[in-house]
Amino acid sequence: MYKLVTILVALMIIFTLSVASLEIASVQDLLMRYLTKAAMSQTSEVVHEKKALKVFVCGTSSPIPSPDRAQSCIAVLTPEHFYIVDSGAGSTDNLISSRLPTDRLQGLFITHFHSDHIAEIPEVNLNSWIQGRAEPLKIIGPPGIEKIVTGLNMAYALDRQYRTEHHGTDLLPPTLGVLKARTLSIGEVLQDGDLRVTVFQADHAPVQPAVGYKFEYQGRSLVISGDSRVTEHTYQMVEGADLLLHDALSEPTLSHLIEAAAAAGLSRNEKILSDVLDYHAWTSSLRELGEQSNVRMVAYYHLVPAPRNILMQKIFERDLPKNHLIAKDKMWFDLPAGSKEIIVSED
Ligand SMILES: [Zn+2]
Ligand SMILES: [Zn+2]
Repeated sequence: MYKLVTILVALMIIFTLSVASLEIASVQDLLMRYLTKAAMSQTSEVVHEKKALKVFVCGTSSPIPSPDRAQSCIAVLTPEHFYIVDSGAGSTDNLISSRLPTDRLQGLFITHFHSDHIAEIPEVNLNSWIQGRAEPLKIIGPPGIEKIVTGLNMAYALDRQYRTEHHGTDLLPPTLGVLKARTLSIGEVLQDGDLRVTVFQADHAPVQPAVGYKFEYQGRSLVISGDSRVTEHTYQMVEGADLLLHDALSEPTLSHLIEAAAAAGLSRNEKILSDVLDYHAWTSSLRELGEQSNVRMVAYYHLVPAPRNILMQKIFERDLPKNHLIAKDKMWFDLPAGSKEIIVSED
């Protein structure tokens, strides 16, 4: 007993001295020097020892605010490729803090033009430009993408000019800061080496156009829904697929929010939340998809609304099949070539 008290007292003294020492400038500098060196010497997390399709979840939230989640964003990587699907608010921070190699980012696929899918195109562009991307960033999407790209290039012209003038044209060549649009049509297939990307119709009516993407690489496949109900196209695309990342709405949770907004007299919120009900995939329809298709794993993202506590999480997870999960920001799915394995991990 005496020994335990002595240890506790010693620990308290060490803790108090440690906290007090943070007030001393030389201690602050010493710690900062050590920590920044350690942080800067870390290399990219994405080590490709073997051929694999890797998926990094850079954002899982919808526009309903969620403090710990970024909005819609999925990164797709192989040893030879790096693309991102959608770029919602906060998602670039996830790419940076997980040290994704944005210097080799090839393009940004956009599913549709709601703000929670395009908000950070300029941030990804800036970050990858600074990191040394060798080509202009391609922004790839359905018709209308050229309008977004023209507008962003115009809006950020002064920003690009300031940065090139300040850091020099060798470091930040002006041509590499300008976005390039690539317009896609439904059914179109893009082939980039061993990576094949198929564009398919999503159902996010009344929003048009809206598409999803299927990625195939070395026998492994990934389907990303974008914002959509479950449709016959979803069933076709997930046939034999390894992983589906799908927009998901928890109808019980949203109904509680609508009821609460009505009771509080918040008629604007009540109307907007009610409108949202019919253009996303209800978790019940995703469970049905799981039962009636042979997709290996389903991960829910673009969560409407994203769970903010254990209670909301439990409601979202009601009757969740074994091969379904609620995605988190900074989650990885690793699909090695020549295997059926899906390795799920968190950064
Ligand atoms: Zn959305
Ligand atoms: Zn949307």
